[in-house]
Amino acid sequence: MKFSEVLGNEQAIRQIRRMIDADRLPHALLLYGEPGVPKLGLAMAAAQYLHCKNHVDGDSCGVCPMCRQHQSFNQVDTHYTYPYTDRKGSNCEADDYIDEWHEFVTKYPVEDYQAWLGLLKNENKQPQIFVREADSIIRKMTLSAYTAKYKILIIWLPEKLKEEAANKLLKLIEEPYDDCKFILVSDNEKGILGTILSRCQRIELRKPSTPMVAQYLSGRYGMDMQEALALAAPADGNIIMAEHLVQTESEFHEFRERFIELMRLSYQHDLAKLKVWSEAVADMKREKARRFLDYAVRQVRENFIYNLHNPALNYLTREEEAFSTRFSPFINERNVEGIVAELERANRDIAGNANAKLVLFDLTIRMSIWIRK
Ligand SMILES: [Zn+2]
Repeated sequence: MKFSEVLGNEQAIRQIRRMIDADRLPHALLLYGEPGVPKLGLAMAAAQYLHCKNHVDGDSCGVCPMCRQHQSFNQVDTHYTYPYTDRKGSNCEADDYIDEWHEFVTKYPVEDYQAWLGLLKNENKQPQIFVREADSIIRKMTLSAYTAKYKILIIWLPEKLKEEAANKLLKLIEEPYDDCKFILVSDNEKGILGTILSRCQRIELRKPSTPMVAQYLSGRYGMDMQEALALAAPADGNIIMAEHLVQTESEFHEFRERFIELMRLSYQHDLAKLKVWSEAVADMKREKARRFLDYAVRQVRENFIYNLHNPALNYLTREEEAFSTRFSPFINERNVEGIVAELERANRDIAGNANAKLVLFDLTIRMSIWIRK
């Protein structure tokens, strides 16, 4: 992986590049940030850059033997550790899951813990980094480097180190051999044992912007930018969520139709049809009904903003926009907050196990009052 393939975080890339150029990469570097913010790719790009013999324009070359070994996961001085379950026996190590790991980092450009759980095929057990793995790491990292000046260990999710394993690694991280570099990649740095955390130099990675996420979706799924922006906006920089939204795009079509129906029937004050509407939405599974209500809140806000006639502020698909050209004047400063509050209250009530049919029918009655304000 090259720096140029990493999404966002240009400043962190510059910082890491400077450290490596000056041969001052710390023994233990921690890259951390919220789940859904790409971090593992940057750790892999840093490892490749550290080993590449032929830097080009501040990046690894991608073609030298070292780069090729990195790209095919055959670099003998680069090791990975990650949480796993003991499905393959009580003595297993992370390397026993190396095929699953290769599939994971190849298939998912952004590390998705849920996807990793799926690949481990042992979803009832909490993956951890076991003591056995710590022993294996110590063995690997105390051997001399074969092919490069530095051996590298990338630890994905150090917060999943069992305490005993963390204590074993501590000495290695505290007093490392000169040729050892540790890169830790964390979704939750507060979950890391304090003694390990205090030995690391930390770099926080930031969420990519919505246009950046849209660019990513557009490149990966071949969508045009307007569609990609509409899907990227609700994900708020979380790539994993944006990917899920792409996969559930058909749900969005259904939500759009339901939303338009709700607004039209509310305006017509057609209580008989609103009752049918609320029963149909109540028939969705609880979580889906809640996703619909989230969607409706976003649409109400988008329509309010649409009245400002500033396209840069709006994230609507073409179909949504076709509706908004006619509908947006009905959302105004007198009713926008009231409507949003009703939708959010219905969402809370459904989450709290209230009768969804009653909650939703009640919502439609209130909506038909608000929409005329
Ligand atoms: Zn190279």
